Amino acid sequence: MSFSAVIFDFFGTLTPSTPAGIWDEHAARSASPLGIPMQQWRRALDESFPERATGALGDLSQTIRTLAQRCGIDPDDDALAAATAARLASQRELFVFRDDALDALEQLRSRGLRIGVLSDCTIELAETWPTLAIAPLVDAVVLSCQEGRRKPDPELFRQVARELETPTSECLYVGDGGGNELSGAAGQGMTAVMLRESDWADNDAHAREDSWPGPFLTTLSNVVSAVGDPPLITA
Ligand SMILES: [Mg+2]
Repeated sequence: MSFSAVIFDFFGTLTPSTPAGIWDEHAARSASPLGIPMQQWRRALDESFPERATGALGDLSQTIRTLAQRCGIDPDDDALAAATAARLASQRELFVFRDDALDALEQLRSRGLRIGVLSDCTIELAETWPTLAIAPLVDAVVLSCQEGRRKPDPELFRQVARELETPTSECLYVGDGGGNELSGAAGQGMTAVMLRESDWADNDAHAREDSWPGPFLTTLSNVVSAVGDPPLITA
């Protein structure tokens, strides 16, 4: 059986891996207006990831205020606005796509496949999504911060398939393996494939399935040939 839809993870899959050093630099930019030491702010961000990724801390400004208060700072409006803007700007620098991402999505669509994105992410991606170059190419986007659930929650996989109006058995799931997403997708009847690009080792992804037994692909362009005629992977 051939596939009717391809569902992509976002970070480290459609985008390049983010090396660990970037997080310190980004944390410094939003810590500065708040007068909070970078390492303390970085820790507050890291420790709150489970809350932020499930939308538990509200919009970005509310999130920054809550985290600042946890660091013992009650920011005034100007400091809060500056830190919020700095955080949004630094996160948006991560929303840059691999060189072959747009072409791969366009080719998959031209073959009649529907496209989904399923991401464990925080509010910054949800607020930015409509402006991204890939947005018009994606038929269904499911973001953890809007759903209140993180991978590998089975409902996330079922939901993106529902929104694509496609049985999970006809979905190919492509991800770098963070959040046990490959097992999660396979557990709901999808065919799961690991994207293991040349920068794969640089990513400090959460709960990544490093021992995933396969299958795997090494570029996004290979996804197109994998579902081509004849397909290298079948549902
Ligand atoms: Mg990922």
